[in-house]
Amino acid sequence: MIPGIKGSLLAAVSLALVGCAASDGKPQTASAQPAAEKSAKFNKDPYPSTYRPYAGRPTAVRGVTIFDGEGGRIDNGVVLFADGKVEAVGGGDTAIPAGYDVVDGSGKFVTPGIIDIHSHLGDYPSPGVEAHSDGNEATSPTTPEVWSEHSVWPQDPGFSRALANGGVTSLLVLPGSANLMGGRSVTLKNVPSRTVQGMKFPGAPYGLKMACGENPKRVYGGKGRAPSTRMGNFAVNRATWQKAAAYKKKMDEGKAVDRDLAMETLAGVLAGEILIHNHCYRADEMALVIDMSKEFGYKVSTFHHAVESYKIADLLAKEGICSAMWADWWGFKMEAYDSVNENVPLVHNAGACAIVHSDDANQIQRLNQEAAKALKAGRRMGINVSDEVAWTWLSHNPAKALGIGDRTGSLKAGKMADVVLWNGNPFSAYTRPEKVWIDGALMFDAMDPKRRPVSDFELGQPGEGDVK
Ligand SMILES: [Zn+2]
Repeated sequence: MIPGIKGSLLAAVSLALVGCAASDGKPQTASAQPAAEKSAKFNKDPYPSTYRPYAGRPTAVRGVTIFDGEGGRIDNGVVLFADGKVEAVGGGDTAIPAGYDVVDGSGKFVTPGIIDIHSHLGDYPSPGVEAHSDGNEATSPTTPEVWSEHSVWPQDPGFSRALANGGVTSLLVLPGSANLMGGRSVTLKNVPSRTVQGMKFPGAPYGLKMACGENPKRVYGGKGRAPSTRMGNFAVNRATWQKAAAYKKKMDEGKAVDRDLAMETLAGVLAGEILIHNHCYRADEMALVIDMSKEFGYKVSTFHHAVESYKIADLLAKEGICSAMWADWWGFKMEAYDSVNENVPLVHNAGACAIVHSDDANQIQRLNQEAAKALKAGRRMGINVSDEVAWTWLSHNPAKALGIGDRTGSLKAGKMADVVLWNGNPFSAYTRPEKVWIDGALMFDAMDPKRRPVSDFELGQPGEGDVK
């Protein structure tokens, strides 16, 4: 999140004051390392997922327009799912086995659930009060030792709004962007749970949030310490990567090392096990980050915000790096100055991986409309992307960038039945999710008030389970 400017765009239950760049003066907490441990092997999954799909019923949606999430479209089609998995996606003649719940999709659309690759839900929950400001460990420019999941509050009412209003079935919760290395991100399934472990997407790789540019140099330069410039940003990053490379070398050689939680995360990146999600606005900085990644032997999965990706779409295509972008949020600070409303379609048109993300508790409820704006801007300049291809920006591409593309993000047999039934074309401003299934379980039904998750925090409060 970006404090201040975007705050003016947000509604009352917002995260306006607690953006990616946090305020000063908070007590030091997470920099200290635990007591030294002598071991070359550490448990890589000490907070394992306990996610279990909710119970579902074998279901058929028929007579519906299908966007399969990989660019395919079937009119008057049938989607079958059972036991949590997509069984078949086909035309109107697809046989519906006996015993299936049949949903009439006439005039409606089915898509894979939306996957938001940039969220702070749970880390900056609603209501956005100071006591809930848990997304930026802004006490050191590099904090790869912190994990966003340790801040996630599963009772955040934002999760159910993203489900009911937005059709969001999975999301990446990242630490904020105050730091060059902000910490680990976590991929969640958007289900009610008592614990964050109960939301963790089973088997999803971890990510590391990094940030270019203005935020780190402002936050730390403002404290009279490095980095205070962009060159300082790179110097601190390079010195840290160098240290991580030496740590990993010792580990690889089987030598005993003092356990270092920060280095453990970075060694995981260098080993290709942890994916880089790099907040970066300017094209020239992205190009420098790409060189830095080669210098130290890691790969950037996705540049987030990426308002100037259109300037280097060829480079991003060549390097196989995704861009997670807004449709039209730009111009709110110098490094966000030079975008265009055609950014998303221009990146797509160059053969690079385009994603529409939110970074916001309100926008996550309308990512379909954000993608629609980008789609329209592209068409105005002659980039004629079809509706069904544009849906890749919301499901298949973010799934791939998160390392879960073989399991969700499209409606293919054998994949998780993360499915949204929309009451019209999902790129219309008038369309809303009618039903949302996660792993084949009906988690939201606009026609059934009982199918609207309400968190403990909301019980008895005005607006309980509110859907707008
Ligand atoms: Zn953010």
